[in-house]
Amino acid sequence: MSTALITGASSGIGAVYARKFASRGHDLVLVARTTQKLEDLAAELRAAYGVKVEILTADLINATQRQTVENRLRDGSPIDVLVNNAGGNIAGTIAETNPVDLEKLVTLNVTVPTLLAAAAASGMARRGTGTIINIGSVVGFMPEHFSGIYAATKSYILTLSQSLAAELGNRGVHVQAVVPAATRTAIWERSGVDANTLPNLMEVDDLVDAALVGLDRKELVTIPPLGDEALWQNLESARHGLLGGLGGTKPAERYRLEK
Ligand code: NAP
Repeated sequence: MSTALITGASSGIGAVYARKFASRGHDLVLVARTTQKLEDLAAELRAAYGVKVEILTADLINATQRQTVENRLRDGSPIDVLVNNAGGNIAGTIAETNPVDLEKLVTLNVTVPTLLAAAAASGMARRGTGTIINIGSVVGFMPEHFSGIYAATKSYILTLSQSLAAELGNRGVHVQAVVPAATRTAIWERSGVDANTLPNLMEVDDLVDAALVGLDRKELVTIPPLGDEALWQNLESARHGLLGGLGGTKPAERYRLEK
């Protein structure tokens, strides 16, 4: 029986992942700050699917509380699937946002998934099996259309996933970056936006079902709203094409000082 640890499992995308993994017969470790919501979900899933569900209440921004989750990943009974889902957004521009809030957002969206992926990866690589799922966002592809640092943090998730896949792919560990567009969850209300005003909104069940199809297809990057897959493949081809031009030992002609 395999066990999935899901961060941000108390609502939205994380709660739906918990339901879907439970329905596939996985035992679960659910992580978030709101114990009661986790307890309610755990009771529902134990009753519906007969799976074991453990709860870890933790504010992942808090280093001491985060450590309990890292310890569970490193030293507890094996975790076969990590879903790095907990994340957030704050309204406002980079120049105007309070630096304490900026730091908290970078911690939640960047530091936390990095440290949890590292904690999970060590055991998975040793055992030669495992799956790490990281939740990014399409806004990582279009930072100029969004204020604040959210887009930058989500762009990092894609790069982190590509790095992890390159390191762990031949050690039996599959890595998947899931890249949603706007999805109907509490994240909008939490960041001061009425979701009903958004023109294109995916339902969260559709998003997670699609992400799981991508996982079953062993995709490294799954972009559920993207109809034309070739657009992503072209972007990746262009990126790989760039690599051939990055090895110059002298500055390119256009950067040479005129003498
Ligand atoms: P959500 O409904 O607000 O869920 C966020 C989850 O993260 C909640 O379970 C929340 O639980 C948990 N969380 C927040 N801060 C935490 C902290 N400090 N420590 C521990 N847990 C914390 O939002 P969602 O849309 O499902 O978001 C899930 C992921 O999807 C995020 O990474 C988000 O960036 C990404 N995403 C969402 C959309 C979208 O349109 N919804 C689009 C692209 C990407 P507690 O409050 O109980 O701690």
